[in-house]
Amino acid sequence: MVSRRSPVIVLMLLSVLGLRLAAQNQSTAKPKPGVVVVSVNGMELDVIRPLLLEGKMPNLSSVIKKGAYGKLRTVSAPNCPRVFSTIFTSTKPEENGVTGFIVGGITANTNMLKEEPIWSMLSKNGVTVGMANVPATFPVLPVNGYMISGMLTRGKNCEDGVLCAPKLSEVEGGDAVYPATLKAELLKNVGDFYIDCERMPSAADLKGHESEVIDAWLNKVQLIRDQQTQLFDYLLDHHPTDFTWLGQSCEDRTGHWLYPIAPYNAGYNPKINGVRVDAFPDQYIAFDKVLGAVLKHVDENTYVIIVSDHGIKPLREFEETDPHAHMDHEKTTPVVAKHDFADGDDVPGSFFAMGPGIKHDLRLMGFEASVYDIAPTILHIYGIEQPAQMHGHVLTEIFEGPADNKLAQK
Ligand SMILES: [Zn+2]
Repeated sequence: MVSRRSPVIVLMLLSVLGLRLAAQNQSTAKPKPGVVVVSVNGMELDVIRPLLLEGKMPNLSSVIKKGAYGKLRTVSAPNCPRVFSTIFTSTKPEENGVTGFIVGGITANTNMLKEEPIWSMLSKNGVTVGMANVPATFPVLPVNGYMISGMLTRGKNCEDGVLCAPKLSEVEGGDAVYPATLKAELLKNVGDFYIDCERMPSAADLKGHESEVIDAWLNKVQLIRDQQTQLFDYLLDHHPTDFTWLGQSCEDRTGHWLYPIAPYNAGYNPKINGVRVDAFPDQYIAFDKVLGAVLKHVDENTYVIIVSDHGIKPLREFEETDPHAHMDHEKTTPVVAKHDFADGDDVPGSFFAMGPGIKHDLRLMGFEASVYDIAPTILHIYGIEQPAQMHGHVLTEIFEGPADNKLAQK
């Protein structure tokens, strides 16, 4: 088990450099499985299920029909860096070092990771890796492919990197793109895109201009999503990798202040919450289009895994006494929904998977799957042994017979 930062980084650097050379000599080797992970920050099943029922998320529906789906047990007081680092390493936040947005007074960053992340394990094993806009991947680390950071990237007008949107050209305090040469290529061919989702407006910004501010904010969110879709398209076309992980983050941020709450919910303000009641569900309809664009690049031999770190629910009791309350998306926005509740089971994430050997139309009941199981399951797909420090297990129940047999032989 790796317990300190520097050895992890050194190991990763050495192995990636070594593997790049090795990979060049292995052109005759058996091709690696293709896996595309699409992660969504805050996918709320209470909102998504009615949309599925109404046929408003056709692409997600098709994944459900062709694969396995269910709730995903998350960690306590879930927030993005805390959960994503758990997904990356299948270790507890306290073990991997990324316990929240701010750790020891500093914005969570990859230099804090004390356990080896999945992208490093895959890279070492000769799997080509491409990652874009995944939360908590700033500054980017070397991989056997490319990495473009996501949420928590720092830059102009986003100095602390917390819940704001720096442009690629305005990133400060670390690299947002690996390898460095890819940055100029992206600026030329994709443009100067926003790396994370827009900062939420403050109560003062909103006061007296609610509709106007809400509309302008939602337009910016859609612009960011369009840029991300263009980026994903470009990467999937021009830099195909065995393992690809693409991240989305505007859904969650919209939910925090535009969750379609009713007047009996805490924090209801008709001037804000009565204006664009479809704003939050619309985020998932828009996400479904992004998913459709990604699925165009996917053939039947590729695994698709859609994963969310947590859900998001209207404010509830314990808010005032819960030590975790108001620790993530506080700022000055009038927040009406949250996810960092002490009991993570209140706001489960979600999991969808399809691909060779994955059962069709399989519904996972209860908490059969957890955020700890994602990395072991991905390693399993690549035939890589699960390291001892990982707490999760391979989601064998989603695989059909041949894969079960393969597991049994292990
Ligand atoms: Zn999140």
